[in-house]
Amino acid sequence: MNFNELNLSQALLRAVGELGYTEMTEIQQESIPLLLEGRDVVGRSNTGTGKTAAFGIPAVESITEADRKSAVVLILCPTRELAMQANEEIRKFAKYKEGVKTSAVYGGASMEKQIHELKRGANIVIGTPGRVMDHIRRRTLKLDSIRTVILDEADEMLNMGFREDIETILADIPEDRQTVLFSATMPKEIMAITEKYQRDPVHIKIKSAQRTVELIEQFYFEVAMGRKTDALKLLLTAYKPSSAMVFCNTKAMVDQLTDELVKSGFRAAGLHGDMKQIQRTQVMNSFKGKAAEILVATDVAARGIDVSGVDAVFNYDLPQDNEYYIHRIGRTGRAGRTGTAYTLISGRRQLYDLRAIEKYIHAEIREMPLPEKSDIIAMKKESMIKEISEAQAGHNAYDILDRLAARGIDYREAAARVIEKQLRAETEALPDLENARPLRKGRNSGAKTARIVINIGRNRRIAPNFILGALVDATGMTGKDFGKIDIYDEHTTVEVPEAECDYIIESSDSMKINGNKVEVKLYKGSPYAERGRSRRPDGKPVFDRKKAAYGNRKKSEIYSDYIPNRKNVLKKDIEVI
Ligand code: ADP
Ligand code: MG
Repeated sequence: MNFNELNLSQALLRAVGELGYTEMTEIQQESIPLLLEGRDVVGRSNTGTGKTAAFGIPAVESITEADRKSAVVLILCPTRELAMQANEEIRKFAKYKEGVKTSAVYGGASMEKQIHELKRGANIVIGTPGRVMDHIRRRTLKLDSIRTVILDEADEMLNMGFREDIETILADIPEDRQTVLFSATMPKEIMAITEKYQRDPVHIKIKSAQRTVELIEQFYFEVAMGRKTDALKLLLTAYKPSSAMVFCNTKAMVDQLTDELVKSGFRAAGLHGDMKQIQRTQVMNSFKGKAAEILVATDVAARGIDVSGVDAVFNYDLPQDNEYYIHRIGRTGRAGRTGTAYTLISGRRQLYDLRAIEKYIHAEIREMPLPEKSDIIAMKKESMIKEISEAQAGHNAYDILDRLAARGIDYREAAARVIEKQLRAETEALPDLENARPLRKGRNSGAKTARIVINIGRNRRIAPNFILGALVDATGMTGKDFGKIDIYDEHTTVEVPEAECDYIIESSDSMKINGNKVEVKLYKGSPYAERGRSRRPDGKPVFDRKKAAYGNRKKSEIYSDYIPNRKNVLKKDIEVI
């Protein structure tokens, strides 16, 4: 169905046409007519399916001459970027329509400017729940004339802890209103909001993940422990995406990876919620303008961001949630274009997690071998041949060649030296993963066990779950792969499958537990056994679980440095914007 089959004003049709939209997407077809009628709607549809227009077009159309003074449409979005993006898009729809004034209100930006815009009679207000609440408290935003309230990415807003703000806002808006909710998933909390705040809503569900995912080719690479950064550099060099996004799970990882990529000569920029708004805007602009070719980001910072022409998405870390995988890879292959998604995995546990994602999305993620340095050199040779055969030489170059010849360096030799220099410059810094340790597969369970010893114990107030967490993290194995953990005063022993012993010791090379760098070795008899205090008279180790777990520290302190992994990421690492 085309937009011009809708009963839209000329002003809107003209603006939509100018944006190059002719045919509506499914969610638009289903929801726009209902929204124009004023119905309450719950819309579920994947990322990249045009939800902004689905609610933005009816919102703009609903503005009348009489709405010159106050906010009549309120749109809540989970992040500043999304609020800015929705605002920009809605302004485009409003281009030819008189009297529409929009204002985006989000944290980290000048309150004065926002107040000014609100006072000047913004009738469509788009904001993050936190900042919207601020304006309500200051009475710079009044809710009494709101006719339509739209929750965009409602599930994400709840995930981010905005529930209370959202409920307060909804409860304060006059009851005689239209309530619209878009969400990728429908957890109970959303159902509860729907029941409590919507009136006879129409549920629209556009078929599952496939739509976005089908257009995206998905691959994964097995990478030796600790070599993901090197692997990523090889991949970026081999595939040369002109615009790529790289996802990490923590802000610290975003910073670290961005630094490393920049040092290796990639035009990379990082994006996460700890950055000032102005920096974030700069980063987004340079990525959109293709000045930065690689955007390294956390999920929340990148959520819903719509940049056209992203040709590859890299999952440096596996997402913490299967749904995020879809959101991430949905950054490429937008609006019907194709794209590629690459996921880096280390260790068996990540392989299991990847399999779970495959099931969840009902699509295949195929394994690919990592490109080797020699492959890349071969590719560079090809591209140099092409480059040189298409290049032109000027008289300065011939002059140099002649003068070199006068010194006994003939043309062939001179050309070879120049080529060598360029080839080296382009490939010397490339990491070499050819000798990196491969992942172990297919450990047979019930196999023989051995023990490893870690030089940390009760003296450092270690709890078994700290040890286990660190080992699982370092090896990519699962908790079940490890056996009994005995904590002594100054050391700890852990039962491990014998076949994996060397692998575990190698992988734990730079492991830290509770902030302490530790050494992991094969346990041979007991160099520590003579320490009588660690043993009971019957020879069993003394183990005061409570003391071992918490020592004299408060529980909150202990949990605050729990080791991040996919299941339990540090609270402080989770983005809240
Ligand atoms: P979502 O919110 O569902 O993730 P967006 O609203 O960000 O998706 O839209 C994704 C992209 O599709 C945007 O670039 C938008 O301009 C484009 N788009 C939306 N509707 C249409 C349409 N009917 N025809 C062509 N492109 C569209
Ligand atoms: Mg959206």
